[in-house]
Order: sequence, then structure tokens, then C-alpha cells
Amino acid sequence: MSRRKKLYEGKAKILYEGPEPGTLVAYFKDDATAFNAQKKAVLEGKGVLNNRISEYIMAHLNRMGVPTHFIKRLNMREQLVREAEIIPLEVVVRNVAAGSIVKRFGLTEGDALPRSIVEFYYKNDALQDPLVGEEHITAFNWATTQDIDDMIALALRVNDFVSGLFAAANIRLVDFKLEFGRIYDQNEMMRIILADEISPDSCRLWDMESNEKMDKDRFRSDLGHVTEAYAEVARRLGIIKEAAVVNLDEAKS
Ligand code: UDP
Repeated sequence: MSRRKKLYEGKAKILYEGPEPGTLVAYFKDDATAFNAQKKAVLEGKGVLNNRISEYIMAHLNRMGVPTHFIKRLNMREQLVREAEIIPLEVVVRNVAAGSIVKRFGLTEGDALPRSIVEFYYKNDALQDPLVGEEHITAFNWATTQDIDDMIALALRVNDFVSGLFAAANIRLVDFKLEFGRIYDQNEMMRIILADEISPDSCRLWDMESNEKMDKDRFRSDLGHVTEAYAEVARRLGIIKEAAVVNLDEAKS
């Protein structure tokens, strides 16, 4: 992989030039960041787990007819993806109150929302990804109203399907973040596809019974056993065989 041309390095992934035009290789790093990269750590094995978990979910979505950038996993840390023009928005879907929505509206963490809520944030680290509405998105030309409708429809389909996938593994999909990109076919027709990753880095995942956190909040809140929790998610989804031997609760003491 080191011989490939590096195109972009983000907080958790590196993008390299792909083997064919219109493809990229995404490399999953072990780096973890939170609070706009003010908190940083290397979590050994995280990249391998996120590569596998994201592969599993994206491959299912492709089969379901939700278009994604995922083509195939290449090795432990890399996947081949379609090159897309990334829309500078983070699309968050929420089923249960947690994180920023709790603070913004004075909600109680863990309360089910009356219905799934889709929010847009402008992807800009210097501005700390502000929440934006359709007015801002269209006025600043980040996306058209048609793009917004497409992203909402796709995000809700992803939510229904991935919530079911996790529920079958006794995990509640509390909320998650998606990113979308544009691709153009031979006739220059534009299509919006799901890009980036779906992993415990970008989702809130709680054990269905105990509400134990199995996602990046373990890192954000110093709960410990972060990669063990990610491995447990992978094990419950049937992606890896090894049983998680740690009791996540013990990490709190
Ligand atoms: N999220 C993410 N990247 C971001 C911001 C949020 O993956 O830059 C995910 C986060 O893990 C959670 C969901 O989006 O699953 C909603 O996050 P929230 O707005 O509550 O932000 P937070 O309070 O986590 O900063």
C-alpha cells in the first residue's frame, strides 16, 4: 500500500489512488480522535475492526439496493471504494436521545425520540461542524433540495435496515453519522451514493438490555476497553469468532 499515491489523510482513514480510474483505496488507521481532535489516542486494532464492520454493513446495503461507495475489502486494513465527490455535510440520524441533541433541547439521555430525526451538520473542523438547515445548505450551494431529499430518503432506509441488523445482535442503534458523495455515469447523470464508513466510530451502539456503550463514547468518556467493545460488536454481528472476554462494566472502576 505504501507504493500507492496518498491523496488525503483524515483523522481515522487515509485515501490512496485506486488501481482503476474512479476507484480509491481507503486505509483504516488505529488513530482515535474526539472533541474536534483535541483528544487523541492510538487504539491498537481499531482500524482492522472498523474495516470489517463497515465492510459487513456496506455490503449488506449494496445488496439491499442502497448505493454505496464500497466495492470490496482488500486486506485487514484496506478497502476498495468508488471515488465520489463528497458532499460537505454530516448527516446524523437519531432514534434515541444522546450526545449533542440532549444538550441542545434539554432532553434525557436514553429517551426514545417520537420519530427518527435526520439532521445536517456542515463539515468544517474550524467551525466545529455547525448544525445547518436546508436554507443554509441550498443558499451556500452545498447541495440542492433534490440532493437533500435523496440524502434523507437514503439515510432513513439505512436507519431501518441497520437498526434491524444491530437489533438482531442485541444492540440498539441510538444514532449515527453518514456522509454522501456524488458519482457521474457515462451520460454524465449524477447519482448520490453513501460514502465514508459505518462503524462504532460513527454510531452510538448500546447493549439492548444493559444500555452499556459499545462505541466511540467509551473513548470520549474514558470508559476504557474501547477496542474490546468494538470487537464485541463484530463478534455479535458474526464477523469475528473470538469471544470478548472482558466485562465492559469493570472498565469503569
Ligand atoms: N458523529 C460522528 N462524527 C462527528 C460527529 C458526530 O461520527 O464528527 C456521530 C456520533 O458518533 C454519534 C452521532 O454522530 O453517533 C451524533 O453525534 P452528536 O451530534 O450527538 O455529537 P457528539 O455529541 O457525539 O459530538
